[in-house]
Amino acid sequence: MSKKNKNKSGNVFQNLMSGRYGGDNYGLFLLVTGVALMIIGAIGNNVAGTILMMIATAEIVFAYVRLMSKKYDKRREENKRYLYKRNSFLGSFKIVWRTLKEGRHYKFYKCPQCAVVLRLPKGAGTIEITCPKCGKKFIKKV
Ligand SMILES: [Zn+2]
Repeated sequence: MSKKNKNKSGNVFQNLMSGRYGGDNYGLFLLVTGVALMIIGAIGNNVAGTILMMIATAEIVFAYVRLMSKKYDKRREENKRYLYKRNSFLGSFKIVWRTLKEGRHYKFYKCPQCAVVLRLPKGAGTIEITCPKCGKKFIKKV
């Protein structure tokens, strides 16, 4: 998958990053949570603070390893798993919120493949649903 293209006219940074995986959603998440944990860890100068600092360091190191990685397939797979978990987590809140607002007429489900929230009319019986985002087909009773 990875292509090594030696670009002689490119600058040092381009050469360094050539063929590397680079950043993605999961990488950004690791970096942001890593920095946040480090700040929280630095406030408390105790055992809990030290543990937080260790987790934060591990996250930032892992984010860097992923950034410089040449294993594209593995990194993409990690990112896909992360996005599913994130969508699923946020989707749970979305379902509660939208059920409160539109629950009289609609039911809300998460796609089993990509976790996007789908709105279905209540009382439609057993129907086959095709996810508009990833194309996954599944059967639900609404
Ligand atoms: Zn889907």
